[in-house]
Amino acid sequence: MTDDSGTAASGHGRPPMPVDEARDRIIDTITPVAASAQIALPDALHRVLAEPVVATVNVPSATNASMDGYALAFEAESSTTACFELVGRSLAGHPSEATLRPGQCVRIMTGAVVPAGADAVVMQENTSVETDGRIAVSPCPARGENLRHAGEDIRAGDVVVPAGQYLRPADIALLASVGRARVAVYRRPRVAFFSTGDELRPIDGSLAVGEIYDSNRYGLAASLAELGMDGVNLGAIPDDRAALRTAFDKARDCDALITSGGVSVGEADHVVDLLGEYGDIDFWRVAIKPGKPLAYGRVGRALFFGLPGNPVSTAVTFIQLVRPALVKLAGGSPAAPVRTTLPTTTALTKRPGRAHYLRACINDATDSPGVTALGHQGSGVMHSMSRADAFIVLPADAANVPAGSEVVVEPFAQTIWGSPS
Ligand code: AMP
Ligand code: MG
Repeated sequence: MTDDSGTAASGHGRPPMPVDEARDRIIDTITPVAASAQIALPDALHRVLAEPVVATVNVPSATNASMDGYALAFEAESSTTACFELVGRSLAGHPSEATLRPGQCVRIMTGAVVPAGADAVVMQENTSVETDGRIAVSPCPARGENLRHAGEDIRAGDVVVPAGQYLRPADIALLASVGRARVAVYRRPRVAFFSTGDELRPIDGSLAVGEIYDSNRYGLAASLAELGMDGVNLGAIPDDRAALRTAFDKARDCDALITSGGVSVGEADHVVDLLGEYGDIDFWRVAIKPGKPLAYGRVGRALFFGLPGNPVSTAVTFIQLVRPALVKLAGGSPAAPVRTTLPTTTALTKRPGRAHYLRACINDATDSPGVTALGHQGSGVMHSMSRADAFIVLPADAANVPAGSEVVVEPFAQTIWGSPS
């Protein structure tokens, strides 16, 4: 607890927490939303499945042809050429009634039910029609060739999609293939957010000297929308403790609150102090550049993420620490970051201490792939964040990196929602 003049916030004096430890620690504290609802399958794209879906049908439902051609009943197993009597046809949606006897065949189209008695389907290209109407086949297919067996994809009783799966178009198609018209999905987390700073102005007005547009709030709103969260925009709050208290109050019953700005040790940085008064601080300050003064805790029942106000710091800490947490909150499984290594095309300056996340461009179209850190790495330079397609991640203990050294690269295009474990 602190009073209005207080400066003693939790975390003062402690060394900043390593990034991976902070991420794991945040994830450990999160209990996913529990409430779910049944919704129509077409509305379930990008929602998280709350119950496993068990198939009640086989897919395919009947053995069918994977080629246009003829379904054959063999007379002799090993013949390479043979002639068959044509006794009917089977089209997709119009199965043949015939039961084939040895030496007989039906014309068949892809997806059509293979009639009883058939051993294989021969593709049309390997057949010809004799003058007497019989079908000459060369070469003969092996037993079972070009057949898609009933239940070979899915068997009735199989779990087709596990609980916790983030539903992508392929999952929607799979669920449709077993005739699921409605599915149970978790409710979307309600995530409140506000920016704070006396200098912030709305983007549809003009700026006086010293004022800036409140870009972080738009970035946060977009990041939440991209994750399918139900964002609650609490606006831009001045550097004023009473106004901040009111904003904290509005967020208490949300699932999470994300703020930008006011978490440093400046005279106008009240967020951490107020958190000590209003909620719980779990930790404050992470060994990350940009983004060190990140605060994590709770306000009411909401998880609290106090992100630093420098725009790149806000973006980097959101991606590295908030996004995986929100995935878990939503009932999903945060995917481990996909990383690769590439030689850096330039020398990189670094002192040991914090992990650095540099905005960079991957050049993989050339014979000599590499990664190039963009020129402007200041934490206020959003331009480089927009132009980059990857982070170069330099570990906390790393020092200067000579040009040509292999560095860890984390592409921006990532699988965010992992498979349920
Ligand atoms: P703070 O974290 O409040 O000390 O802010 C650090 C820097 O980020 C300052 O230069 C602020 O003007 C800037 N800043 C803070 N909030 C925002 C915002 N919402 N949008 C853009 N820049 C911001
Ligand atoms: Mg500020």
